Amino acid sequence: MHVRFEPFGNSWPPRKPPAAQKFTDQEKAKLEEGLRVATECSALAVARAADGFKRAEKLLKAFFARPEDLDRVKAGLQKMHAFLTDGGRTITFVDARGQSEKLLRFCERALPGVPGRHGAVESVLQSTKVVPMTAGDYAYVKTLNGLDASAPTEAHLGSGMRIYIGERGFHPSKTVRDTAATVYHEICHKVLATVDHAYKVPDCSALANTGQAVQCADNWALFVTAFQFTWPDLDWDPKELIETRPRSNAVSKPAPPTGRARSNAVSGGPPPVRGPG
Ligand SMILES: [Zn+2]
Repeated sequence: MHVRFEPFGNSWPPRKPPAAQKFTDQEKAKLEEGLRVATECSALAVARAADGFKRAEKLLKAFFARPEDLDRVKAGLQKMHAFLTDGGRTITFVDARGQSEKLLRFCERALPGVPGRHGAVESVLQSTKVVPMTAGDYAYVKTLNGLDASAPTEAHLGSGMRIYIGERGFHPSKTVRDTAATVYHEICHKVLATVDHAYKVPDCSALANTGQAVQCADNWALFVTAFQFTWPDLDWDPKELIETRPRSNAVSKPAPPTGRARSNAVSGGPPPVRGPG
């Protein structure tokens, strides 16, 4: 996966006048680390999917409690991991701080209209699936087609992958865990055509027994990052994976105090991805 950075003014759609703002080197490093860690978490989740999450049942149930969703969760994790580890792909982070309103206005103009609607701003925006910055969104991506979250395959990747980062994306309280979750969340919108039914652990867990869980980007992002990090309100610790592992040297050592679980699986790149079992 290659990483590029753009100021908002160089992005699509173009806006006038061009923005001069740019990511600092420190901000770029933070985003790159977030992508790297998101990929690590993805590898851990895929590895655990191989046996149907036998060692992570509590975590699975917290976000995807319906047995009938298991195959779709496994397939989705593999699809995400294939994307994240695709050396031919590029992710472009766009500095969208302060730009969400202009983005919305532009898209309103750019659209000729929606059948059956008469210029309602909300409908026009909705039709392009432009997601504005909200209290729960640190970032957003744009998907071009109507979303059908129940479809087995999705095709939102043709225009490339741009992740627009807003002010909250660099809030000082954000840790690498949060950045990794944000990156996975946004990519998940594109790769799995997920939407934002809910954010954060309590609200996403409340969806776990519904068909909305597999459609919800934050369910995926929180689930995957919980293989390496602890989250508030989540009754699951990634150390449980290590402690219950029957034959592992890691058992003799306590996990580091940072909340990050040890992982041999990711040190030399992602493990081989197995087909759904
Ligand atoms: Zn979202």
